[in-house]
Amino acid sequence: MNDLFTSPHFLAAAEEIIDAIGFFHQQGWCPATSSNFSFRLESSEIGEIGEIGEIESGEIFISRSGIDKGHFQIQDFLHIDLNGQVKAPPHACASAETDLHTLIYQKFPNIKCVLHTHSAIATVLSMQYRQTSFLQFQGLEILKGLSGIQTHDTQVRLPIVDNSQDISQIKTQVEAYLQNHSVMFGYLIAGHGLYTWGESIATAKRHVETLEFLLECEWLKRKGS
Ligand SMILES: [Zn+2]
Repeated sequence: MNDLFTSPHFLAAAEEIIDAIGFFHQQGWCPATSSNFSFRLESSEIGEIGEIGEIESGEIFISRSGIDKGHFQIQDFLHIDLNGQVKAPPHACASAETDLHTLIYQKFPNIKCVLHTHSAIATVLSMQYRQTSFLQFQGLEILKGLSGIQTHDTQVRLPIVDNSQDISQIKTQVEAYLQNHSVMFGYLIAGHGLYTWGESIATAKRHVETLEFLLECEWLKRKGS
């Protein structure tokens, strides 16, 4: 048994993210075992002393794939390294989308949580707006749910990348976007779902709620026009 799985910091964070997963599931945002979730703890928080690089990158835990998110449990987390290799439990296999989580942890050392959902509205709108390659939101109070935004009087773009069963192709598109944009709250994968993240589990959860609400507003606007 890996001691990390019994450390108080791991248990507290796992409980917090499991609450968020339960909420997302109730909203219908992770149907049919889809979606995946991860969080990062500082190595020092859980008493892990490893290689220098390991201390800096922290310890990452990601949801096991294929689990009904209505029944997600603490033992359904895998401990992975910054490159997505499973450290524990032995012989476990991480989700194919693990690289999309580690990409964000590699690019943003302050990010502590990456969340991925599959709502129907994100799935449909990301197909409808694929040609423009982004969705843009402006003038809405809920935008203040995104970290650092203090006013409704602003514009936020949510980029859309093509879906692929070859995750490296999705990763390449996200990396290309990040090269040209310093601010990115999340992105949509066309016909697939939403990725977002935050400096804490609570912030990442708030980002999912904010972006899903913005998508719903866009959907209602389209229906009404
Ligand atoms: Zn997915």
